[in-house]
Amino acid sequence: MLALYFDGQPAIKELPRPAPGPGEVLVRVHLAGICATDLQVLRGYHGFKGIMGHEFVGEVAAPEDSPWLGQRVVGEINLGCGACDLCRRGLAGHCRQRRVLGLKDHDGALAHYLTLPAANLHAVPLEVPDVLAVFTEPLAAALRVLEVAPVPPSARILVVGDGPLGLQVSWVLAVSGAEVHLAGRHPEHLALARPQGVATYLAADLPAGDYDIVVEASGSPSGLELALTRVRPRGTVVMKSTYTGRYPLDPAVLVVPEISLVGCRCGPFAGALRLLRDGRVDPRPLIARTFPLSRGLEALAWAQRPGVLKVLVDCREAG
Ligand SMILES: [Zn+2]
Ligand SMILES: [Zn+2]
Repeated sequence: MLALYFDGQPAIKELPRPAPGPGEVLVRVHLAGICATDLQVLRGYHGFKGIMGHEFVGEVAAPEDSPWLGQRVVGEINLGCGACDLCRRGLAGHCRQRRVLGLKDHDGALAHYLTLPAANLHAVPLEVPDVLAVFTEPLAAALRVLEVAPVPPSARILVVGDGPLGLQVSWVLAVSGAEVHLAGRHPEHLALARPQGVATYLAADLPAGDYDIVVEASGSPSGLELALTRVRPRGTVVMKSTYTGRYPLDPAVLVVPEISLVGCRCGPFAGALRLLRDGRVDPRPLIARTFPLSRGLEALAWAQRPGVLKVLVDCREAG
């Protein structure tokens, strides 16, 4: 099978089709998405070596006796060991021996086939085409904000960052009924949030005023700086982005105004699939281009162009 393999450098390689282990299934990948975290892999995130990619929709191709056989699926990306104290407490996503699809010790989705535990799978409803289902993972990650920072409908929320993550976070928060503002740097990206009822601003033009909750989704230290200056006393800053750099933090910035700083990673797939099925969120305007897997290197390069939101890879096509 073809795969986009990273070993210090990305390359399209012909590799053997993986064999599912006990409890696992083989998934024939239909579509995969490239996200900012994949671009971090190129810069050494987790020291990952292997097949890249963690956002996908596909179809279960093996084993023959799996009840999932032939089912169109999306899959949660964390693989816990199943035996440690964290896994037994239902925190497999935080297992210390955790492997992560395409990001840590487990081959990913930018390939003709991938393997995942059957327990990680979610069936894709018939009404959700592949081009929407491929957004389940990032949309679930956006929904996670609502789990880590309960959002009353009276809340005033600022989302910092107008990339795919910030836009999707602003959409799901707007669906919740809260007053949502989005600060970014690209007028054409901000325009994608306004139809959802999100008030948008260029970061430099953000009007004065505090927010109950600020979600940092910009992927840069300057985004966190803006978040910390705009959250009200006793408010919450939710950190969505990972980046390889460091941010120097003066503890007084949190201590004196009693601000909560909350990390936020992977989210509920079932909720994301419902939002997609019911048309409450439609991420298709994020798609810049779709490349066949054989042109995966071009897809990676395209995803790194400034202003490009989402690049998809069609893994069903060989050429
Ligand atoms: Zn991602
Ligand atoms: Zn474990």
